[in-house]
Amino acid sequence: MRYIEPHAHMVSRTTDDYLAMVTAGCEAVCEPAFWAGFDRGSAAAFGDYFRQLTEYEPRRAARYGLPHFCWLCLNPKESENLALAGDVLALLPEFLDRPTVLGVGEIGLNKNSRNELAVLERHLDLAAGRGEMLLVHTPHLEDKLKGTRLILDAIRNEPRIDPGRVLVDHVEEHTISLALDAGCWAGITLYPESKCTPARAIDMVEVYSAERVWLNCACDWGHSDPLAVPKTAVEMRRRGHSPEAVDRLIHANPLRFLGQCPKFRLAAS
Ligand SMILES: [Zn+2]
Repeated sequence: MRYIEPHAHMVSRTTDDYLAMVTAGCEAVCEPAFWAGFDRGSAAAFGDYFRQLTEYEPRRAARYGLPHFCWLCLNPKESENLALAGDVLALLPEFLDRPTVLGVGEIGLNKNSRNELAVLERHLDLAAGRGEMLLVHTPHLEDKLKGTRLILDAIRNEPRIDPGRVLVDHVEEHTISLALDAGCWAGITLYPESKCTPARAIDMVEVYSAERVWLNCACDWGHSDPLAVPKTAVEMRRRGHSPEAVDRLIHANPLRFLGQCPKFRLAAS
């Protein structure tokens, strides 16, 4: 089995997890900037985090021969403070130029607040102006449907953005079609408790589409599983999906989306 892990918060994981992922067939890992489990107090703290994502983590992953890429932004959970948001946004261009940065993400909404939306629009403007790809976080539970609609409206309002270069993540049964119909890609997140189980994820792929969809584990500091993607592949095989169909979903699809960024390269290519 081979796969690409397109969404994992490796700064929160042990080095043993890198070894386990490579052993399971992982060929590249991508790490979006997100909340650290606590609110950071200054733009300097974000600068350190961006350095960790662009300098330290690629070196740690390289010890296992694993290419490490990242996406950078101010995450929606920390977007309430507009003064801080402005300072962090001012840091971004310098870091976006770095060789392993794929684009702006994971931006989006958390509580669908006015300030979150304002910061989202500033990120979209920055990405559109630079021609960056976008990785979008959608809110959880009861906020997801409304939040997904607000995010897709904001993307539609920015005609410089090609929706084919946008991935809307953490989709569920009631939001996957919204993302796909808007021309975006959709990410299905596999979590042991919240978000999707392997069975639900495969149901969605069977019912809706496997064309512009990827699976990710989004493992972080909480209860999560860095091997959720290969474990879901095992479940797909058990249901009778061919090895080729599994490979398309967990390897070819992320490669097709991420390959739109010329910085994304597998080790062998
Ligand atoms: Zn995430």
